[in-house]
Amino acid sequence: MHFFEYKNGELYAEGVPVARLAEELGTPLYVYSHKTLVRHFKVFNEAFADVPHLICFAMKSNSNIAILRLFSELGGGLDIVSQGELYRGIKAGVSPKKVVFAGVGKTDDEIAYALEQGILMFNVESEDELRNIDAVAGRLGKTAPVAIRVNPDVNPETHPYIATGLKKSKFGIDIARAMAQYRAAAELPNIDACGLHCHIGSQITQSSPFAEAAGKAADLVHALRGEGHDIRYLNVGGGLGITYHDEVPPSPKEYAEAILPVLKDLDVTLVLEPGRVIAGNAGILVTKVLYGKENEEKRFTIIDAGMNDLIRPSLYHAFQEVWPVEEAVRQRPRHVCDLVGPICESGDYLAKDRELPELERDDLLAIMSAGAYGFVMASNYNSRPRPPEVLVRDGEYHVIRERENFEDLIRGESIPAFISGGAG
Ligand SMILES: *Cc1c(COP(=O)(O)O)cnc(C)c1O
Repeated sequence: MHFFEYKNGELYAEGVPVARLAEELGTPLYVYSHKTLVRHFKVFNEAFADVPHLICFAMKSNSNIAILRLFSELGGGLDIVSQGELYRGIKAGVSPKKVVFAGVGKTDDEIAYALEQGILMFNVESEDELRNIDAVAGRLGKTAPVAIRVNPDVNPETHPYIATGLKKSKFGIDIARAMAQYRAAAELPNIDACGLHCHIGSQITQSSPFAEAAGKAADLVHALRGEGHDIRYLNVGGGLGITYHDEVPPSPKEYAEAILPVLKDLDVTLVLEPGRVIAGNAGILVTKVLYGKENEEKRFTIIDAGMNDLIRPSLYHAFQEVWPVEEAVRQRPRHVCDLVGPICESGDYLAKDRELPELERDDLLAIMSAGAYGFVMASNYNSRPRPPEVLVRDGEYHVIRERENFEDLIRGESIPAFISGGAG
């Protein structure tokens, strides 16, 4: 659900007309709804009210410091995957004590920074990494709290690029070898293996893979305790899907009901890492129609947003709904067309073979469900400044990230003296 609705014949973000935002801030433009973000966070949090838990928002889905601060105010922590994300989190005022650090390729610098900041724990993805964290912690005179990320070999039935819990995945450690990893961890002087981590993928729209993974994780916690390992945290990752089109994913409550029966008597603090389900439907990308174009085979509508602004359709063949900002446009005759951007790539589209009303120059469109894996994946490809991000709350709005300018595009570049005209 979300608070982008038609009122008086036009699309509103909460109490603000989207057309007004486009006029005052230009397009393309990311718009987030405060009320939607808060509601999603609270609904998710409340679903786990019966057990000790911590919601660590997966900030790779949306890392604007205003959004991070908002969740922090609601009691949340962060799931991070890089030092840059930890830096952002700290700038946003999030306590490192509520931060968990995942990712297969943590460098020594990243590990040291996280240890110095005192994060809650590392989610460790390999034995090599475990030994390295021990070594870095030893040099700093610290003990590193870790959860070992196991790979439960559960098929989440999602897009292969976002399935992570299968044996062939680069993530995690095969669950059959987990016990050996904990034994190895117990021998390392600077490691406290206090948790178990298990994340199986993203945009999962059924409960059964989560229930299956939770069952395997619970069994493992019992087995580990039986060997004397002091497991205090169980991190079940993120991955709950949302409705982009006609998916009917479990609600946070149904998700909780699917996994809690096997987890609630484990006597652990449950850590959850939702990203998409919190931020996805809380944002839209607003774009303007530039041109139409037709040949015998196809109809194209060219818009001012491209794959550099929102890459999900190009990268994962993701479907995102397209809503005209002016409601009356919906009544126009409909045609199948490709909605394409200005980027010089054939893969540059935001909607493919989509039945849309006839569109005219300057019509405004909202690309829905763009709040997660939207702006964060934007690039400057084709030397396009990245769009601004604006947060709407009731009838007011605040630009939480300015539109980039042309100076931003060449920041840090220079011409060496050995090229004629260069300054060195
Ligand atoms: C990406 C990721 C998440 C968040 O996934 P969503 O589908 O956005 O909920 C959580 N945990 C880990 C380890 C991840 O890699």
